[in-house]
Amino acid sequence: MNLRHLIFYMLRRTKNFLIRIYCQRLRENLKNIQRLQIIYDFTRMSNHYPIPIKELSQSLSGLPGIGRRTSERLTLALLDWESDQLKELGELISTLKEKVTYCEICANLADKQSCDICLDPRRNGEVICVVEYPQQIAVIDKCGRYNGLFHVLGGKIDPLANVHAENLRINQLLERIKNNTINEIILATSPDVEGEATAVYLANELREQFQLNISRIALGIPVGSDLTFADSATMAMAIDSRRVIQ
Ligand SMILES: [Zn+2]
Repeated sequence: MNLRHLIFYMLRRTKNFLIRIYCQRLRENLKNIQRLQIIYDFTRMSNHYPIPIKELSQSLSGLPGIGRRTSERLTLALLDWESDQLKELGELISTLKEKVTYCEICANLADKQSCDICLDPRRNGEVICVVEYPQQIAVIDKCGRYNGLFHVLGGKIDPLANVHAENLRINQLLERIKNNTINEIILATSPDVEGEATAVYLANELREQFQLNISRIALGIPVGSDLTFADSATMAMAIDSRRVIQ
């Protein structure tokens, strides 16, 4: 994406900045209301269920995508499990944080010093794909089109959320490039304002310090979507990312 389109894209989204500030406060208030609602719901639940069921259900409802009814259903399903199965599950949960760590090279999730991707000799060690979070590595790896290494930044530049370049693992990336033979860096940050700003910042830093190919993942129309409903910023990116049909 060139600078003109980046400015256009950022201006288009600027109006959302103020809304976001208001929304943040609204969300905080909403969270408090939701917490009160959950407490109220579980208080009501205690009339019908023993306290251990109520407590486990309340714990499970803290997981993403798990509401009160689902957490209640999961808790009741666990009651049907054998004691050994429950002990094993409890053990797995209680030791999860001790057993899972971050790869010292790329910051991917790992169960030893380095992750399986960094240790795999079949990988192309001359290409690094930069992502925001470890979960994105699995998404890119699953597509089967990329066989290089990864680097997790730990987020993206977002001044509103008080995340600046120095808070990300950018220095570690620069060190990796200095100490290894790297020919290409693929910037795979998200196609939102913060992700684009992070990609532009990184591209400038890399250009200043190294002679290597810097590429950005193609942005545009999602596969299977209807072109009729594409917004102009997405369309501009799709035009910029167009390719010649072989
Ligand atoms: Zn790794």
